[in-house]
Amino acid sequence: MKDKIIDSGLTFDNSYAQQLPGFYAEYAGDRAPEPSIVKLNKPLAISLGFDLDTLQEQDIAAMLSGGMEVLGSAPLAQAYAGHQFGGFSPQLGDGRALLLGEVIDVDGCRKDIQLKGSGRTVFSRGGDGKAALGPVLREYLLAEAMHSLAVPTTRALAALTTGENVMRNKRLPGAVLARVATSHVRIGTFQYFAARGEANRVKTLADYCISRHYPELVDSENPYLGLLSDVCEKHAFLVAKWMSIGFVHGVMNTDNMTISGETIDYGPCAFLDQYDPSTVFSSIDQQGRYAYDKQPEMAQWNLARLAETLLPLIDTDGNKAMALATTAINDFTTVYQQHWLILMTAKLGLTDTQAEDLALVTDLLNLMKVHKVDFTQLFNALSRVLKEDSATAKTFFPVDSAFDQWLSRWVQSIDRNSCSKDETINSMALVNPVYIPRNHQVEAALVAAQEHADFKPFEKLLKIVTQPFEKRPGLAEFESPAPRGLSRYRTFCGT
Ligand code: AMP
Ligand code: MG
Repeated sequence: MKDKIIDSGLTFDNSYAQQLPGFYAEYAGDRAPEPSIVKLNKPLAISLGFDLDTLQEQDIAAMLSGGMEVLGSAPLAQAYAGHQFGGFSPQLGDGRALLLGEVIDVDGCRKDIQLKGSGRTVFSRGGDGKAALGPVLREYLLAEAMHSLAVPTTRALAALTTGENVMRNKRLPGAVLARVATSHVRIGTFQYFAARGEANRVKTLADYCISRHYPELVDSENPYLGLLSDVCEKHAFLVAKWMSIGFVHGVMNTDNMTISGETIDYGPCAFLDQYDPSTVFSSIDQQGRYAYDKQPEMAQWNLARLAETLLPLIDTDGNKAMALATTAINDFTTVYQQHWLILMTAKLGLTDTQAEDLALVTDLLNLMKVHKVDFTQLFNALSRVLKEDSATAKTFFPVDSAFDQWLSRWVQSIDRNSCSKDETINSMALVNPVYIPRNHQVEAALVAAQEHADFKPFEKLLKIVTQPFEKRPGLAEFESPAPRGLSRYRTFCGT
């Protein structure tokens, strides 16, 4: 029985619920026995329209943990399918999440509010529909770090404990993550209906996505081809961003690829420390399918799956549709490389990217690979070279190594900048983070919270990684990788 309707003050406008009947199951979630806010992202909440001065904390906790009636919301679990590690699952869907509804934020942008860990749905299969505190805090930290690193991403609105335990390999505190996204439509959403032969619904979904995410396509000559190209473009940029900060997503299944081009699902993701392009952190990725250097190729593979669902809409002539879609998918490579080179040259302080810079970047990466150099630290050390300290950068390489020649090539390239040296140093500082969520630090924060109910390390780390570009005194330990000798970092999908 729902005894109370919560008036959050938000103005919901639930386009998915209203325009896409048949694309979801109505579902309000399980009510948490004792919901409690662990962390609320106040600036984000305010931007969505929450009035934090008048709302009771317990109402926010109840509303964002599920199972309550919230005025104006239309809670539902979305249907989707997905290629998981290459194999197609025709029915996935929100098995442990619900879309509470949509609001228009202060900037006029439509945003989904989703609760993850809110109980079993019709899509739960064998799962319990719940989430444990550790993975919820992990997503909170990682998503907010990524946002601060200027990477398109879903956001963390709140982490809540539910007051019940969940069973994983042991009993763990149950939790819910309230997250915000530009939408939760995925490549897998298209696949769900295409696999059932429901061509009309694929069209309805494509029209919905065009009007919600790519409205400029509405009057274009071929909006569906435009949709495919634009999603390709968004992901080319997204993955180039990931690569430029050493991010390994870890589970790039088609159900984890948004149509909006935002990073979603921070399950087994992690950041590189030493530069090894074949790095895989996820324990379930035995084949290295989603290794760091495979990410562009895997994104393109996923986009080809989207293309397959759109073929009948792109052209009624199958051959023509295939030719047009193939060109769009092939273009991904070029667009990705352009974005990547621009981002990587910016890391090197080069203000205008030229074709010859490619060799400069790849030669550096090769040296970093050979000498197992920390990806984040080196770019910081390079900007010190411009402050008359080349010794720091050189400590990452053997004495009198090929790095010395690389350094003089780079310094010559910098000379072509039309801006001053100080401006170059500033531009590098804006794109090269000092602090990333280092794997051992993330782990320590989650263990403290989950095992000992000590949230201080989480709070501290969150503060550090959400101001990633600004070096502060007293935080040296957060700049460095884990001490050597610690066992190889592994992430688990046990969320
Ligand atoms: P993910 O690994 O988060 O991308 O999830 C893949 C699929 O598994 C989605 O359909 C999820 O809803 C479902 N899933 C993951 N964990 C659970 C769980 N504990 N209970 C029910 N479904 C789950
Ligand atoms: Mg997912």
